[in-house]
Amino acid sequence: MPTMGYLHNGHISLIEESKKRADITIVSIFVNPTQFAPTEDFKAYPRDIERDLRLLEQAGTDYLFYPSAVDIYPNNFQTYVDVTEIAKIIEGEFRPTHFKGVTTIVSILFNCVKPDLAFFGQKDAQQTSVIKRMIEDLKYEIEVVICPIIREADGLALSSRNVYLNPEEREKALILNESLKQAEDIILSGERNTVTIIKKINNNFIKEKSVHLNYIRIVNADTFKEADKLETGKDYYCLVAAKVGSTRLIDNRLIHIK
Ligand code: AMP
Repeated sequence: MPTMGYLHNGHISLIEESKKRADITIVSIFVNPTQFAPTEDFKAYPRDIERDLRLLEQAGTDYLFYPSAVDIYPNNFQTYVDVTEIAKIIEGEFRPTHFKGVTTIVSILFNCVKPDLAFFGQKDAQQTSVIKRMIEDLKYEIEVVICPIIREADGLALSSRNVYLNPEEREKALILNESLKQAEDIILSGERNTVTIIKKINNNFIKEKSVHLNYIRIVNADTFKEADKLETGKDYYCLVAAKVGSTRLIDNRLIHIK
């Protein structure tokens, strides 16, 4: 399980799944500089290795891989892994260099750890698709296991970045999950036109001035291509990204069309 540390129950759920499925569970903690743009929160990203060690031990992790930045990126480092299409859309439009950093570090971690299974959270749905593409293209023999999103009792998806939210922002942040739930309800009531669905959800964000929406998209869950009309029998992700104060949050919901 690649992680950036500051562990929460979302990370722990991945470890639990690995303990069910694999003989040996290895977690990495590395706050990867190449996946942050210069304007983003690399320096401020929360870190607490002592707490993480306790949580990893409690969860029964076999090994922690905790490399230093120069172990991973020595001074003469020059090689990157870049997925050219699926990494450039949606989240990639807002964070153009992000997935290149992710695929580069994940491929280095795969080469160091040589796993048979790799566990990722649906929380970062596009990331799982980008990594699956990389695995196929670079012919890694690794099975990706996608684990469900773990949420707080009130629906906020767990994220290491939630610590940035002050109490008022924490309350406002519920708009992400609530909008996704509303999108699902609209779809369950029979609406199949994604423009209509997105327009309705967009209205929530227009009303909530303190939350700045980056995007709401509905994509085919396999291809990540945007859908105009939802088709029976297929799976779609409804994806949302928004800034609450200065904290950028993402969330999504997997919706099956019956
Ligand atoms: P991060 O430390 O944020 O890079 O996340 C490490 C892994 O944990 C990624 O595969 C994430 O998708 C996953 N993850 C993060 N938050 C959650 C969550 N709330 N539920 C499930 N998995 C999560």
